Amino acid sequence: MSLPIAELVPSHIRSFEAYVPSRPDPELMRVYKVDHLHRLNNNENALGPPPAAQRVIDGFEPPRSAIYPSGDCFFLRQALGERFGMDPERFLVGNGSCEVIASVIKAFCEKGDNIITADKTFAVYEWVAEFSGFEARLIPLLDYAFDPEAMLAAMDGRTKILFVCNPNNPTGTWWNRQTMERFLARVDGRAIVVLDEAYREYVDDPDFPDGMELMERHRNVVVFRTFSKMYALAGLRVGYVCGQKDVIDYIRRTHIVYSVNGLGQLAARAALGDDAEHILATRSMVARAREIILPAFRELELPYVSGAGNFVMVKTPASDSLIYRQLMRRGIMVRTMTGFRFPNWIRVSLVQEPAMRDFLAGFREVVTQVREDAEGEEA
Ligand SMILES: *Cc1c(COP(=O)(O)O)cnc(C)c1O
Repeated sequence: MSLPIAELVPSHIRSFEAYVPSRPDPELMRVYKVDHLHRLNNNENALGPPPAAQRVIDGFEPPRSAIYPSGDCFFLRQALGERFGMDPERFLVGNGSCEVIASVIKAFCEKGDNIITADKTFAVYEWVAEFSGFEARLIPLLDYAFDPEAMLAAMDGRTKILFVCNPNNPTGTWWNRQTMERFLARVDGRAIVVLDEAYREYVDDPDFPDGMELMERHRNVVVFRTFSKMYALAGLRVGYVCGQKDVIDYIRRTHIVYSVNGLGQLAARAALGDDAEHILATRSMVARAREIILPAFRELELPYVSGAGNFVMVKTPASDSLIYRQLMRRGIMVRTMTGFRFPNWIRVSLVQEPAMRDFLAGFREVVTQVREDAEGEEA
């Protein structure tokens, strides 16, 4: 008699609950009976990629699909090296920065090791650690921000990686230069510090600590960046890690070659070379969206959290999944935050004014309805 399959599965896999992605837009539109959908759920850049990247995508000849891409993103790494004034060997590109998270964990963790991050942040650090059999120590946020003291206190001899999401998704908080320097001084090279700067290009405050510069003085620092957010190439899946050459050399050993598709490499390289106006236009779109949305939240007397990045969070007066469904029926998709351990909050991406106005009109209706229903129940 053969073993039941479950007997073959390690306990950390048996106890792991898989993330279920949302269904594709056409499916959702059919289910919710709408003929349009504002995607405000994934912090995508609604302006689309910079013009040079759009031209590369338009001009991609189908026969090129038959050819393997550069296995190590040769030209894209050259362009990154030029942009940041670094040796291209110090970059490792992945199928989105999510893939790079896995490569870093594989490179540094073995049985019994742990990683440290926050409880309410980008969940992929925690997930990869757990389904790989490593403990993820999740430190509660302090005033919606990563808590450096508590993270340091949680370190022990088996801590290999500290993940700091700067700015943090979903709260938008970030450590300034002084907080970062103090933290790195006290980590004192005992563990790898990952600075996930997925939203770095949205910040123009001179007090924001630039990871690319920090890693020159702190050899244990690596920085994650992505083409998914500001550069609007989320669908092509390109992200990267940058660090000291010896650190990247170790990470590369665990990394799947050829994981980044050819069109993604071309588009990312073009986007990098044509980003100045694009970044300004995106930042001003986001600033305008914030100007529209925050006064409305205040008027509705709903708590919100708004920091850096192209998103805000707002606390809803009902369950977030109910609000989600009601908004979907109006063609508006937001992110429910219960899964991020913010029960009954939603996160809303900041996009062009007309979509923001549609969101607010729908959201007002839904909130008003929920409040009326609650009063009705009390009466
Ligand atoms: C969106 C996001 C990423 C990017 O993931 P990709 O795999 O590059 O698309 C990474 N970190 C954070 C915090 C994010 O919000």
